Amino acid sequence: MKTIHDFNFENKKALIRVDFNVPLNENFEVTDTTRIEAAKSTIIKILEDGGSAVLMSHLGRPKGVEEKYSLEHIVEKVSEVIGVQVKFVNDCVGEKVEEAVANLENGEILLLENLRFYSEEKSGDKAFAEQLSKNGDIYVNDAFGTAHRAHASTTIVAEFFPEHKCFGNLLAKEIESIDRVLNNSQKPVLAVLGGAKVSSKITVIENILDKIDHLIIGGGMTFTFIKAQGGQIGNSLVEDDKLDLALEILDKAKAKNVQVHLPVDAVIADSFSNDANTKTVRVNEIPDGWMGLDAGEISAEVFDKVVAQCKTILWNGPLGVFEMETFSKGTIALGNSIDQATQNGAFSLVGGGDSVAAVKQFGFADKVSYVSTGGGAMLETLEGKTLPGINAILI
Ligand code: AMP
Repeated sequence: MKTIHDFNFENKKALIRVDFNVPLNENFEVTDTTRIEAAKSTIIKILEDGGSAVLMSHLGRPKGVEEKYSLEHIVEKVSEVIGVQVKFVNDCVGEKVEEAVANLENGEILLLENLRFYSEEKSGDKAFAEQLSKNGDIYVNDAFGTAHRAHASTTIVAEFFPEHKCFGNLLAKEIESIDRVLNNSQKPVLAVLGGAKVSSKITVIENILDKIDHLIIGGGMTFTFIKAQGGQIGNSLVEDDKLDLALEILDKAKAKNVQVHLPVDAVIADSFSNDANTKTVRVNEIPDGWMGLDAGEISAEVFDKVVAQCKTILWNGPLGVFEMETFSKGTIALGNSIDQATQNGAFSLVGGGDSVAAVKQFGFADKVSYVSTGGGAMLETLEGKTLPGINAILI
């Protein structure tokens, strides 16, 4: 695996695919700089070597050129975070860009305009990728969030740098973290899968059963498993067409010696609302008219004991409707358990889908070993897929 540490960037222009798809407010100000900060160490290493950095990214989902998605809006914020005044050119390919790149001095940073102003970016157009490739001597991919897409700047462009392509620090860290959980893990390994639906996690479960010792299932998924086993789930979220599949998963887990832990109690509500009437009942005795929206306290205690004995922990998905305070306690309790286990030496990785939102909201981001920067990319990795953006650097 080639990283930026395998190259000396002195007098070289690094063409870096970053993920600066950051949230902007109505005044076009960056409201969360996490993704910019995440790219910082890669950029700094290149500048410190005596090279220059050409940054390319997408922002939002523009249809053609749309001013509101211009990366010019973020120039000042990027400059502030990196500590170097960033130059900007209002295109990402063509003569004007090539000239700006040619004029770039060592130690300087140039940000290109939104890649998705060209439909060729998403379609993975080869000619467009070739034009992009003219903007640097060495291609660095540091965008995990788009590594599952075979777009021009994330995958196809690598073809034009057969010997001069590598991973940036962020992408390398993502790959190492996933590897530490799925392949080179210290046992016992625990996966916590929460979130809304079995259907969106089924491939993940099937792929990781060979690699884990314990599986905690929580969130809305719980009730499909409980109903499949004959429990009463009232009006809880359920996928009736997945009942057989749920039983199959439990059988497979048993055959592979994976211990499955489902919630034993649930916080139930008489409506899907923060102000609903609530009570805590056994998870398989939910009356009609009530729905399970969080794991209960006894479940939290059981899960705590499981988490405490594991050396490697993967957490994907909340244990309840964490967006509503009333139903956030199960997720918070689990976060505390993982925090404790991490302090005791476990390696904990959070990622995939919306998990990161929950972890950030409750302040666990600094307490786990690693928080993945890619929702979809992480889920696809957990499903066992090879991501095109990663493969393009490896081949
Ligand atoms: P996912 O994107 O699959 O990780 O799902 C995250 C969503 O699952 C969050 O928006 C939660 O509110 C939701 N969720 C968690 N537990 C439940 C539940 N018991 N019933 C309905 N939705 C839930």
